[in-house]
Amino acid sequence: MKGLSPKQTRSRRRRRSHLASSTSHKSGGSGVPAATGWGELAQADHRYLWHPFTQMREWMREEPVIIESGAGAILRDTAGREYLDGNSSIWTNLHGHRHPRITAAIKEQLDRIAHSSFLGLSNVPAVELAKKLCRLTGLPRVFYSDDGSTAMEVAIKMALQYWQHRGQPQRTRFVAFADAYHGDTIGAVSVGGIELFHRVFRPLTFAVTRLNRLEDFPRCDDVAAVVIEPLVQGAAGMKLWPAGMLRELRRRCDESGALLIADEVLTGFGRTGTMFACEQEGVRPDLLALAKGLTGGYLPLAATLTTAGVFDAFLGEYGEFKTFFHGHSYTGNQLGCAAALANLEIFEREGVLENLKSKIQNLKAGLDRCRPLPGVVEVRQIGFIGAVEVGPYPLEQKMGFAICAAMRRRGVLTRPIGNTVVVMPPYCITETQLSRLLAVLEESLRAVCGAKWV
Ligand code: PLP
Repeated sequence: MKGLSPKQTRSRRRRRSHLASSTSHKSGGSGVPAATGWGELAQADHRYLWHPFTQMREWMREEPVIIESGAGAILRDTAGREYLDGNSSIWTNLHGHRHPRITAAIKEQLDRIAHSSFLGLSNVPAVELAKKLCRLTGLPRVFYSDDGSTAMEVAIKMALQYWQHRGQPQRTRFVAFADAYHGDTIGAVSVGGIELFHRVFRPLTFAVTRLNRLEDFPRCDDVAAVVIEPLVQGAAGMKLWPAGMLRELRRRCDESGALLIADEVLTGFGRTGTMFACEQEGVRPDLLALAKGLTGGYLPLAATLTTAGVFDAFLGEYGEFKTFFHGHSYTGNQLGCAAALANLEIFEREGVLENLKSKIQNLKAGLDRCRPLPGVVEVRQIGFIGAVEVGPYPLEQKMGFAICAAMRRRGVLTRPIGNTVVVMPPYCITETQLSRLLAVLEESLRAVCGAKWV
């Protein structure tokens, strides 16, 4: 098997023989027959798993790509096929798979301890990471959680409780933008504005003032916080905000007294070309949510950072019950914190943002070549995020998926958002690999949209 160590091959065989004995039935749990020519892992996937944001009936009609290993910007599947990781494993990976520094940091931490509770205890890498995050962001307090959704959930709950401690309990209103995406837990869904994902959960969510544009900012004194994805709305299809919008939003929040929550789950750690998107408009939020790239894409860990003002409002004697009553079993997990520390060290030692500049230019040039292609309606790019929107096609036509399938056949993995194809590789991608990725994008757009365009 190409590129695999003997150890990896042995472990693969072990897994296969185990699965062979445990999956004697040939049909999926929902009665969908598994194709007989497929490997046992593929059959077991169809029989036992439920994938996120996936129509499982369609999933079970096709042989899944099952990733077995990776290195740098390359992912390798169980059949030994190699792919470029064109969306950084859903926007998480920064410096590539199996980066020696992050791998070593996790292994080293594992030899000490994997996890101990953060309730009533602290731990070494969590303290060290908090110190670094505060220095980097200019915000003095860190609250850990597990992923982007929980980082946002924490921010929302902190904002609400803050106003109760500040003697303004009427401030319960949250303001958020149309097409916003902040995660899948109920608070995050409440502030989310993508109807396709969110409408079925509306009976569970709280009411939010939804803005289509900044000019509609409410003039009232009951706003707890305004929530925004700074510079770019990711899951909306990489939609860019106009320059200066974030700064103006900060000004309006200050004017009305509302807190500003910046959701940098996607944009944090260099994605837009600067360490944080807020830097580009000189904005300091009151609450900042970080996840995805925090560990370089290795382990689930998130952080919500805030100001001294917010933190101090929660201080009191035990009996005053001003405590922030929120926490997760894996809060401050040592392995995640060790990975995050190694991630930050790579930024410091390997000149990552400096090296990224020329790649950003090449990404832009490659995307520009897609503009005149048949079917392309818009090309969007900021930092190392690229998006090509095609249309007008009804969503049911699944053109985004068709383009991504064509890219996959050519050795590039990415995932569409409706009619938008996202190109967002890890920063470590080589110039040659980037050129190949962009050539595959162009070729696939021609192949799919060229054929359907009249
Ligand atoms: N916020 C933003 C801006 C995101 O893009 C995402 C995920 O894509 C989230 C929050 C939710 O993060 P997670 O999937 O880690 O819960």
